[in-house]
Amino acid sequence: LTYATMFNPPEEMHQRYEAALAELSADLGGRFHLYIDGEDRPAEAYDTRVSPLDRELVLGEFAAADSADVDAAMGAAQVAFKGWRHTPAAERIAIMRRIADLLDEEVYLLAAALTLETGKNRFEALGEAQETADFFRVYADSFEQQGFDHMLPNDPLPDWTSTNRSVMKPYGAWVVIVPFNFPLALAGGPVAAALVTGNTVVLKGASHTPLAGRLLADCLHRAGLPAGVFNYLSGPGSRIGDALVAHPSTAGVTFTGSYEVGMRISRFMVAGRYPRPCIAEMGGKNPCIVTRNADLERAAIGIVRSAFGMGGQKCSALSRLYVHSAVADELIARIKGELGKLNIGDPRQRENWLGPVTTAQAHANYARYAAQLGESAEILHGGRQLDDCGDGYYVEPLLAEASLEHPLWREEMFLPILLLARVDNFEQALELANDTDLGLTAGVYGDQREVNQFLDEIEAGVTYVNRPQGATTGAWPGYQCFGGWKGSGTTGKAIGSFYYLALYQREQSHTIVE
Ligand code: GLU
Repeated sequence: LTYATMFNPPEEMHQRYEAALAELSADLGGRFHLYIDGEDRPAEAYDTRVSPLDRELVLGEFAAADSADVDAAMGAAQVAFKGWRHTPAAERIAIMRRIADLLDEEVYLLAAALTLETGKNRFEALGEAQETADFFRVYADSFEQQGFDHMLPNDPLPDWTSTNRSVMKPYGAWVVIVPFNFPLALAGGPVAAALVTGNTVVLKGASHTPLAGRLLADCLHRAGLPAGVFNYLSGPGSRIGDALVAHPSTAGVTFTGSYEVGMRISRFMVAGRYPRPCIAEMGGKNPCIVTRNADLERAAIGIVRSAFGMGGQKCSALSRLYVHSAVADELIARIKGELGKLNIGDPRQRENWLGPVTTAQAHANYARYAAQLGESAEILHGGRQLDDCGDGYYVEPLLAEASLEHPLWREEMFLPILLLARVDNFEQALELANDTDLGLTAGVYGDQREVNQFLDEIEAGVTYVNRPQGATTGAWPGYQCFGGWKGSGTTGKAIGSFYYLALYQREQSHTIVE
């Protein structure tokens, strides 16, 4: 699959996805264990997970790890580090490419699992599965290009010849914690980066969506990684999150999820015996500006994709829309026109674009926010939970015009809810767009002068200009790097970029006198 096929899928893609969905559905309901030190490990307790598509559909029983399992996984990762860090870089790179090939082979099955456990449609699901494979490939390529010893100028003293170099080395056993919305790609990206640079990994699967991570573990096992180099734990964050982060063997953590949890983990990581690296990709409250000079057709398509795709459950989702008052009515009409073309319902059906939201909590939150907006803003579209789509968590996309003082401009709802405000000029829109503690993605539709100013002044890590494929969403490894500024990320370095791998390495200076 390529990025382009996602937007114009051939018939064969539908058929292979549907076959994989049938195959996986016939196989559901079993027990999924932990994966530690190269083997499946049964847990003391298991949680039953149902699908958001239909609460009657049981996905399986997933191991709920406890602190003894955390000790076992961290211990295995720490022991395996001794060998893995000495594995020649070329060999690690080759294994990453083998994993990418295996993920390619499994892409339809992985996508089917993602639809069943997150509720995303086939394009989003196939996109995420393919993105995961591409992360392994992209990081293998960039690690290969990196060069491992950087020679520095020799010391200038005449009597002693010294060689100076800087060497990048891995840290040790790395913990990766992933969110429910991208349980495969946001696992695969950091896992690939940590492994290729020579760290070992304990992956904590998403609490609500543990299946995809477990299937990833199967692929990594088949790729022939030495035992203990990669380990997988499922279970609630409330039960094992702190134990993992605070574990004495944890050399570093990559977390993707909410601002609150990300900040908590960052504090943990500086509070131990010494500070340890923490890469936290946190929330978004992402803006889009539509100026009076915008191409409104493109804008409406890009806005609907980014605000409502996957039910708005992306860190990158668009949730704040600032539109020039001269074009606001026309833009609203076009957005409603686009929304009118969308089918909502069971995403196993080809014609449905918007599936359910993923969790019971999100479903309940939607009703609460819709009621709040009904009282305090003007709802232009949507607002209902949909019971006629099946026994899952289905809701309508919601577009509301709200005053600039409305409190929901500052709250990450993580739902298909888009707030809109009319503005008098571009400068005001830019100021509003930046008036937030978060800074993940941002989009603009406007003319060249406006675009230049936007790119110069916008405070966000990922920006999109005049883009119909998505106003704020849809980064792809090797094409766009993805990382947050301000409260959206701890490092300012983006996933998928050359600089990202350096976060998993520490530098050592060697000065050697002959
Ligand atoms: N990579 C996804 C995108 O660009 C978003 C990932 C996320 O939600 O964290 O839309």
